[in-house]
Amino acid sequence: MSSTPRASTPNSTPPAGTPARTAPPATPAIKREARAVHVLPPLPYASDALEPVISARTISFHYGKHHKDYVDKLNHLIDSTPFADLSLEALILRTAGKPEHAAIFNNAAQAWNHTFYWQSLSPTGGRHVPPKLQDAIRRAFGDLEALKAEMAKAALDQFGSGWVWLVLNENELKVTRTGNGDDPLPTHQKPLLAIDVWEHAYYLDVQNRRGDHVHAVLDKLMNWEFAAQNMT
Ligand code: MN
Repeated sequence: MSSTPRASTPNSTPPAGTPARTAPPATPAIKREARAVHVLPPLPYASDALEPVISARTISFHYGKHHKDYVDKLNHLIDSTPFADLSLEALILRTAGKPEHAAIFNNAAQAWNHTFYWQSLSPTGGRHVPPKLQDAIRRAFGDLEALKAEMAKAALDQFGSGWVWLVLNENELKVTRTGNGDDPLPTHQKPLLAIDVWEHAYYLDVQNRRGDHVHAVLDKLMNWEFAAQNMT
């Protein structure tokens, strides 16, 4: 850090004994940083807490690089624009489906999606399904295994990068998927859980075996309590 600013003006007479300068003091480079309107939220657990399903190394890239990049890029894109003061959700709804705002949409959606995704996982996930969610699962899918099978199928059916979601659609549970950075917010479905099926979510750990990864996530990490909280 630089020294503490002094309460003197740049043109004030230097105190006696100050060495004469032949050049003015260096001024900080005028390189304005974008306002950090959006911040990378802390992970809700330690970076190795999801091992062995998701390694600390995957987290270091996925959270520390990919997610951070979406947030940083978004801040640069919206700086000094009419979008600068909007929440992520408002940005997503305002820019969805508008090719002229695709860059803002993609980075805002990916910033939102990843924060939601980290919360959709838990080191103690996969176990307790709250009764309220159990009832809704029974109505929509029959049982938890049927829901998990549908989510795994959606993950494998998604060609290329994207997301698998458990959503509430008019009070009914539904599994859906989106490509690239898209998410369910513009379709007014309420996300309950997300699984990232971009290769960066699993490639370091299981290479191309998306199915293995998704089954392990569903069995060991899925945060059904978070899903139940999101129903209200
Ligand atoms: Mn991702």
